[in-house]
Order: sequence, then structure tokens, then C-alpha cells
Amino acid sequence: HVKESGRNGFRFFKGEMNAEALRWLALETRLRRAIERDELALHYQPQVSHLDGTLVGMEALLRWNSGEIGNVSPADFIPLAEDTGLIHPIGEWVIRQACFQNKAWQDAGLAPVRVAVNVSAHQFKAGAVVSVVRSALHDSGLAPRWLEVELTESVMLGDSSAAEAQMAELRALGVSLSLDDFGTGYSSLGYLSRFPLDKLKIDQTFVRNITSEQRSAAIAQATIALAKGLSLAVVAEGVETIGQRDFLGSLGCDVMQGYLYGRPIPAVDMARLLALGSVML
Ligand code: C2E
Ligand code: MG
Ligand code: MG
Ligand code: MG
Repeated sequence: HVKESGRNGFRFFKGEMNAEALRWLALETRLRRAIERDELALHYQPQVSHLDGTLVGMEALLRWNSGEIGNVSPADFIPLAEDTGLIHPIGEWVIRQACFQNKAWQDAGLAPVRVAVNVSAHQFKAGAVVSVVRSALHDSGLAPRWLEVELTESVMLGDSSAAEAQMAELRALGVSLSLDDFGTGYSSLGYLSRFPLDKLKIDQTFVRNITSEQRSAAIAQATIALAKGLSLAVVAEGVETIGQRDFLGSLGCDVMQGYLYGRPIPAVDMARLLALGSVML
């Protein structure tokens, strides 16, 4: 097991461990206890229709507030979770939490909305995504159409037939599939026709410079045209300005996500937003 030999290796060389490795090890110890200590939470960020400003979905984003070191960014702890195998219990917690929260909103009488969860390529590699999703839907009572799985291009690398089979099974359950951070990974256009996807998310690195850099604009434009040609929905990530929104809108991008519309917020705050009904953001 890679993770065991890695840790023994760490221990063996402890005398020479650099500050970065020590920090990593301390973080792992804390992250290992995060679930049982109830330090994890999901925040929810709205996805908004450009056409009429209504909320059409949301993305669940993981937050870790460690009792000892405070808030840690997922950009820091997700890679650590992936290296240590902790991504499996944490990833399962995320899927279940999102399903139970969404069902609780529906049971409270709020308008149904689709919630997207991020699923790591490591979870797909372990082959447990389908059973975890099936149990989460069954146990929460959430109808599958209200769950979306966001995956990255790395899922489709390597043993891609295994990934393809899992994606097809999720689709057969009625869950939708979204390709996150499109254009930043090992994109192959062949993937897009072969794998059963519903949606592409234009990465925020392209959105950021869309009004100032011809290259970013060209990539965004091509991505939107590609999505339309393949009958995929398209969402722009990281929309922060009206200029970016208008430019993306003029290219035919219908759904936007970003600080312009709202930051990720705790579930209680999202419930208030949902209670406004058909929100105009
Ligand atoms: P992502 O899935 O691409 O999520 C979008 C990230 O962009 C989020 O960062 C979000 O807060 C941020 N964002 C949204 N709108 C804007 C904007 O207008 N401007 C800027 N500058 N940023 C914006 P966050 O929450 O820090 O998450 C970072 C990454 O960590 C995620 O990128 C995802 O790859 C990973 N992650 C987060 N939660 C989970 C999870 O539950 N499971 C897994 N496997 N990965 C997760
Ligand atoms: Mg995402
Ligand atoms: Mg993304
Ligand atoms: Mg990202």
C-alpha cells in the first residue's frame, strides 16, 4: 500500500524532514479527525441563468474549520486527502451531506434545486462512486435528478473504460454529470464524444481574462460553441464582473457562477435565498 510505505518513509527520515513535510504530517493528523470532530461543512454557491437571473442550481464546496488551526482551503487539504486516502471517507461524507441537505430543503417546502458535488478522480479510481451515490440517494430519499456529479478530465485518463462504465451507471441512476475546470487538464476532444456528459464548466482561468485577453476569449468562445454542438449545457465559473457576464452572454453561455452572483455560503444562508422563491440575482 503506497500510503503506508510513504508514511514509514517519512518516519524513517524524520531527522531530515523539512518544514514542509512536517506541516503536511501535522495537517494529515488533524484532517484524519475532522469528520468525527464535526469540523467539515458544505457551503453552497448559486448557479444563475443569464437570461432571467433565476437560480438554476448550486455547487457544494467543502469547508474545513479545524479546531486547532482554523479554516484550511480545499486547495490545500484536498490534495492531502488524495495522497493519504482520506479522500474516500471525506468524499463519501460530501456526497451524503449534499443529498441529505438538499432533501431537507425540499421537505421544508423550498423549490427543488439541483446540487452539484465535486468528486475526485481518486474516488472514481477506487470504483466506489456509484455505490456511494446510490446509498446516499436511497438513505436521504433525494430523487437522483437533483444531484449532479462534477468530475475533472483526469477521471477519463488511464483505465478510461472503468471510468466510462461508472459514468454510464451514474447517468442510468438519473444523476447528471458535469466536466469541471474544462480546458485546464489533459483535454482530449475525443473524450467529449465518448463519455456520457451533460455539462461543461468553463474554468475560471479563461473567464478571468476574457475581456482583456484575446486568447482567453477565443478559448471561451470555442468551448461554448463546442458544448452547443455536442448538445451539452455550459456553465462559466468565476464570473466576477458585469463585463465578463455580458461577454459570456453574448457568446451564448446561459449559466453563470461566480462572486458577481454570490460567494459560497453556509446551508442556513442558502435556505434563506431559496425561501425567496424564484430568486432574481
Ligand atoms: P472548483 O470545483 O473548480 O470550485 C470552484 C472554486 O472557485 C471554489 O473554490 C469557489 O469558491 C471559487 N470561486 C467561485 N466563484 C469565484 C469567483 O468569482 N472568483 C474566484 N476567484 N473564485 C471563485 P474553493 O471552494 O476554494 O474550492 C477549490 C477547489 O477545491 C474546487 O474547485 C475543487 O476542485 C476542490 N473542492 C472543493 N470542494 C470539494 C469537494 O467536496 N470534493 C473535492 N474532491 N474537491 C473539492
Ligand atoms: Mg467544481
Ligand atoms: Mg471548477
Ligand atoms: Mg477549480
